[in-house]
Amino acid sequence: MTSDIELLRAAADYAIEYAASIDARDAAPTPDAIEQLAALDGPLPDRPTDPGEAIALLADIGGPATMGSTGPDYYGFVNGATLPVALGASMLVNAWDQNAALPVMSPVAAKVHDVTRRWLTELLGLPSVSEVAFVTGATVANASCLAAARDALLLDVGWDAQRDGLFGAPAITVVIGDKAHSTLRKSLGLIGLGRERVTIMPADDQGRMRTDLLPDPDSLDGPVLVCAQAGEVNTGAFDRFETLADWVGQHGNAWLHVDGAFGLWALADPTRTELVDGLTRADSLATDAHKWLNVTYDCGIAFVTRPGALRRTFAAVAGYLPPDEGFEAMHHTPQSSQRARQIEVWAVLRTLGRSGVAELVQRACDCAVAIAEQLRSDGFEILNDVVLNQVLVRYRDPETTERLITEIQRDGRIWCGPTKWNGSTAMRISVSSWKTDLDNARHAAEVIIACADALA
Ligand SMILES: *Cc1c(COP(=O)(O)O)cnc(C)c1O
Repeated sequence: MTSDIELLRAAADYAIEYAASIDARDAAPTPDAIEQLAALDGPLPDRPTDPGEAIALLADIGGPATMGSTGPDYYGFVNGATLPVALGASMLVNAWDQNAALPVMSPVAAKVHDVTRRWLTELLGLPSVSEVAFVTGATVANASCLAAARDALLLDVGWDAQRDGLFGAPAITVVIGDKAHSTLRKSLGLIGLGRERVTIMPADDQGRMRTDLLPDPDSLDGPVLVCAQAGEVNTGAFDRFETLADWVGQHGNAWLHVDGAFGLWALADPTRTELVDGLTRADSLATDAHKWLNVTYDCGIAFVTRPGALRRTFAAVAGYLPPDEGFEAMHHTPQSSQRARQIEVWAVLRTLGRSGVAELVQRACDCAVAIAEQLRSDGFEILNDVVLNQVLVRYRDPETTERLITEIQRDGRIWCGPTKWNGSTAMRISVSSWKTDLDNARHAAEVIIACADALA
């Protein structure tokens, strides 16, 4: 039997070896590596086995079948990689195995939550009173913000949704953009506001909400929840927050929520002020740290700028007022027991600082521009204004674009995938890894061009 210490050393060594070799690997596993996964299968063992075998199997069989998403050549979805300091912090966090639900369960998690909350609000320029909750991802961060919004809006018209539920409650008008992320609808469904019971604002050619088509705020009776977006998942476009915040202010009982799963980090980049104009006036904002901030899964962040709103919704005891001894995560999030997600975020902010986060954002955006320019000059159609880290590409026509994507994925040196833009297939390139630099960007464009040539 492997001893406990040997086991942990071996696991740490495997993990370090994996991280150290990622640049040399392709962005996608080979078909053979995927076939080998069968070695993890078999009957449930009747008796204990050597734990060293489990770790070795994971390293030898599991590792080669991973996507190379922590490397510089992965451009799929908006997945983000992992900074070494985040990986290192996650190792400690796992060793500590703290329950971050209450300060009494983990003094370190509570302290780091307070510091990270303050650093994040300073970094992003959000109101200093903002409450910050760490959840599993932007889907749940959106749902948490929207649940707090729902309850606050209904309380304003005399309805206690936590006590009485939603049957018979005054109606909330929910306004979303036509290009809202699919998971925003999922979040709305989850909290009882309905995926389809929404007013959809048409989008412009970049996927921004057509704010010029908003009704006169005085013409809408009852509470209104406006769901805007910082970073459309295909184009990276930002809604016009100044206009939306003005509209919400004029209505009186309205709440502005922003889904900024990756785009919110643009607030940390002083060269992008035009894009984020008015964004910090939102009542709530959701983002991911596991995407662009490059921490490990799973880490989403909910910001609510109206003090007390998260607690009113998520306190495990109705009407709960916390004792004055620090942030109680279980009374501000959908979870009770929870991992101390804030610690990796702290480690990244402590390491990068203000300028480092700005550089992280700028580097990815510069790479996106470089890829777009190289592809455009080679005859590809770039469908979006590259304002952030997303590039939307078409090669000849949707059908050829699909074949190109298949070829790129078969080639394996880089990885990007398909999306639908205005009903037809396009290729989406998302630069979300801290590792991707201008050399990698040039390489990516060259691989794409070579794959296109191979189609002919
Ligand atoms: C990724 C994403 C989400 C969902 O985030 P998860 O972390 O996967 O839950 C929501 N909105 C946008 C714009 C996204 O890019």
